[in-house]
Amino acid sequence: MEKIIKSIYENYLHSVGIGKVADYIPPLANVPPDKYAISVCTIEGEKYNIGNYTEKFSIQSISKVLTLSMLAPMVGKEIWECVGKEPSGSPFNSLVQLEYEKGIPRNPFINAGALVITDKLLQLVPDFNEKLLEYVRSLAGSEDIHYNKEVSDSEYTTGERNKALAHLMKSFGNFKGKVSQVFRSYCNQCSIEMSTMQLAQTFLFLANKGINPLNGEQVVSYRDSKRINALMLTCGFYDESGDFAYRVGMPGKSGVGGGIVAVIPGKLSIAVWSPELNGHGNSCRGIATLADFTTELGISVF
Ligand code: GLN
Repeated sequence: MEKIIKSIYENYLHSVGIGKVADYIPPLANVPPDKYAISVCTIEGEKYNIGNYTEKFSIQSISKVLTLSMLAPMVGKEIWECVGKEPSGSPFNSLVQLEYEKGIPRNPFINAGALVITDKLLQLVPDFNEKLLEYVRSLAGSEDIHYNKEVSDSEYTTGERNKALAHLMKSFGNFKGKVSQVFRSYCNQCSIEMSTMQLAQTFLFLANKGINPLNGEQVVSYRDSKRINALMLTCGFYDESGDFAYRVGMPGKSGVGGGIVAVIPGKLSIAVWSPELNGHGNSCRGIATLADFTTELGISVF
């Protein structure tokens, strides 16, 4: 495994200039495009890291899996009346589809879907913003995980489209809280900073039947871990989810900070960071790395 990861890393080390770093807020636009890191954690406890793997980056939409996982044990199947579980085939911040579908987002991993999940969490969990950090820290096995205030503030002040999504859902009755409060919490989630090393560890419970391997805690039931993985496979990369499944063959989730995390149930989790994005908002080099990883190791879910 170590040799293969190293050879993939060396192969792509100079692949810069193939995409575009997210530029909708200054703190993301200023991230050097050549950052590159790969981290793997196996459920047996092996760890492999290469590149800028201790450096933290904005996890952005990867947080959508963590909020869904946090909510899952608190709700029953009625949650699926408020948010769907089908691929969207649309960009992550599309308003058009939401209007057509009467304020019910296609899935929890597009922005509208994640806003609904956050709305529910704020109703159910006192001190939710604090509790989310505690939740992520326990999965990561690290206290050193925080919101980045500069990122959160920039997201908040520039996020007119996201606010529009929330208001549209409110007009259809699919949103209970105050838009400003829910959106602030959403911006905090996006601003969480982690290294690939922390991120791979955090997602290992989804490769381990919902159990945090660090403390044996059942984070989500096996049934929910199976379902969350299915949603990552079908919806984790927005309108590029089919292509990701085709090329990589792992359930995973991307963020516009250039991170991707993916799992092979029963085996491992892998996190890659490379900030240059393609037109769908997914890391170009991250996808290429993962495609080679599954092919060369012969371990995709297919
Ligand atoms: N903060 C970004 C947004 O809300 C997150 C999008 C993403 O990572 N795809 O638009």
